[in-house]
Amino acid sequence: MASAYPIHLVLVGPPGAGKGTQAAMLESQLGLKQISSGDLFRENLKNHTELGQLAKIYIDRGDLVPDNVTIAMVEDRIQRPDCARGVIFDGFPRTLEQARALDEMLALQGSEIRVAPALVASDEVIIDRLTGRRVCRNCGAVYHVCYNAPKVDGVCDVCGGELCQRSDDLPETVRNRLYVYYKQTSPLIGYYYAKDLLIRVDADQPIETVKQAMLQAIGAVIGK
Ligand code: ADP
Ligand code: ADP
Repeated sequence: MASAYPIHLVLVGPPGAGKGTQAAMLESQLGLKQISSGDLFRENLKNHTELGQLAKIYIDRGDLVPDNVTIAMVEDRIQRPDCARGVIFDGFPRTLEQARALDEMLALQGSEIRVAPALVASDEVIIDRLTGRRVCRNCGAVYHVCYNAPKVDGVCDVCGGELCQRSDDLPETVRNRLYVYYKQTSPLIGYYYAKDLLIRVDADQPIETVKQAMLQAIGAVIGK
């Protein structure tokens, strides 16, 4: 298949499956831009925007931010020049309505989704990953207390910032996020399967193993 740019990828998978971790690696390996809707919401929260205040209500409960708000935010973001070579969508779409809206916005640009890797992870693994996840308050880099520990405990390797636990990674909220995933997001597996874009990757493996499997599977599709 042709490898002409832009190349758009959608990472599907439950919270904690490793979408952000893999998207960050793919960003440098493939020269595409990682766009994480969760990161965009957190940026808005940090900057005390109206959008951030609205999103906080949903994020704190582990629910999804309404589709119209989320779609408008992503649509605006992908207009920027840094998305011209293509985007790795991480955490978006999360509903069928978002998936259809994404197809429409890309079609307007004369483009389309080329491949949708699904990170398949068991519930025990997900809970273990989410409860051990730590993020840098300053630059947002993601760590895990056991599987991806920083060199110095509590300190970001990248910028020296302080590491913290996301408030939505506490056990009460994690349970609802998993429920929301199965109810609202997992239908995307069928959506992309029907379009012949889905590739399943075993995400229960260590980070490096998943990365190699991702690169191999994506490369086979986009011809790299
Ligand atoms: P995770 O990396 O654990 O999957 P994210 O950082 O992607 O979590 O998202 C954190 C929260 O932000 C979600 O629980 C949800 O409240 C909100 N959010 C992120 N992306 C979307 C989206 N595409 N649609 C609706 N809400 C979203
Ligand atoms: P998502 O974006 O899907 O919510 P993250 O990429 O933030 O997931 O990963 C969740 C947590 O699990 C982080 O602490 C990350 O360091 C860790 N992690 C990611 N992939 C793996 C893996 N394959 N094995 C072990 N830990 C992982």
